[in-house]
Amino acid sequence: MKLHEYQSKQIFSKYGIPIPKGRVAATADEAKQIAEELGGRIVIKSQVLVGGRGKAGGIRLAKNPQEAAEVARQILAMDIKGLPVRRVLVDEAANIEKEIYLGITNDRAARKPVMMCSAAGGVDIEEVARTTPEKIIKVHIDPLLGLRDYQAYDIAAGIDLPRELWRSFLTIAHGLWKAYSANDATLAEINPLVIANGRLLAVDGKMVIDDNALFRHPELAEMRDLDIEAPSEIEARKYGLSFIKLDGSIGCMVNGAGLAMTTMDIIKLFGGEPANFLDIGGGAGADKVAAAFRIILADPNVKAVLINIFGGITRCDEVARGILAAMDEVKPNVPMVVRLVGTNAEEGRRLLAEANMITAETLADAAKKAVSVAQAVVKEG
Ligand code: GDP
Ligand code: MN
Repeated sequence: MKLHEYQSKQIFSKYGIPIPKGRVAATADEAKQIAEELGGRIVIKSQVLVGGRGKAGGIRLAKNPQEAAEVARQILAMDIKGLPVRRVLVDEAANIEKEIYLGITNDRAARKPVMMCSAAGGVDIEEVARTTPEKIIKVHIDPLLGLRDYQAYDIAAGIDLPRELWRSFLTIAHGLWKAYSANDATLAEINPLVIANGRLLAVDGKMVIDDNALFRHPELAEMRDLDIEAPSEIEARKYGLSFIKLDGSIGCMVNGAGLAMTTMDIIKLFGGEPANFLDIGGGAGADKVAAAFRIILADPNVKAVLINIFGGITRCDEVARGILAAMDEVKPNVPMVVRLVGTNAEEGRRLLAEANMITAETLADAAKKAVSVAQAVVKEG
């Protein structure tokens, strides 16, 4: 889960990282009021969950509260890379002398978090990483020991940071590590960390929180911005379904993540493309199945549905009842192929036979049938 800049910076600030004074606003009037409180030059920053806001015109300076209101009005009317701007951060503007990059992420190959830093920070850091990767210093952090002082000093020396800023840099590096580890982040990034009026200041902030850890951070889970997620994914989360929308034409309803992956692979093997990954989980009842079914059928790209249930704890008759309940509601007009095996499979099949479903004995058979009916639907137009 991505956090907005203003949310990330608030967290950074709790861990001792200096951030500019400022607040978030939803209207031009609010922005003006905040600018009045701050006084002086301000920067108006769109709060959308994509990078490159600066280059897209979503970060602008203003000299006074009137200008702040006007700039905020314009930015609040923007779409940045397809995302509507609902809020702007109104911050005291910094007199930037230098832009540094500082970030932590997981290095899966090294099985450790890695702190990365570059003196060439700012909006072109991706370009720096691509063309001159040697300008990025990397230091791995032992998760049990945490960031060590000497590591932070090594980085400071490596980017030729002026000596008088080392102490402050140490505080920031430790703060970023704590923010990262204490919040189960998979990314914590300051770009740019600037030198302004002889001090270090985190002008931008970005955090990504591990979704699997959100259960122990309810205060972070509440920060989720629903604007950026497909409505189907929001609905899926509500029912505890693991759902990922894809671009193909065959909707999949499967129990178990491994079986769902297998189902997707086998669809591809027979020349089709899955429209989604969907794991209804173990022991799903009729309610959950019905929700899954609605979510799959809400996708206009879906030309056929493949239901692949291996009944263990999940009972095939429960799944069938869920499907039938949902069919009453959604009235699907695409063909459906079903393969049920395991607990109460006969009962499940009997129930579904009444609903004009195509049944299959094996997974390969089911996948072949799904691919062929989906193609037939496409040809009919
Ligand atoms: P991003 O483009 O989404 O990464 O947004 P940033 O917050 O990093 O801002 C982009 C760029 O705008 C920064 O690299 C700075 O060059 C500039 N910028 C941001 N805040 C300020 C500020 O307070 N003063 C000045 N002069 N420039 C700023
Ligand atoms: Mn940035």
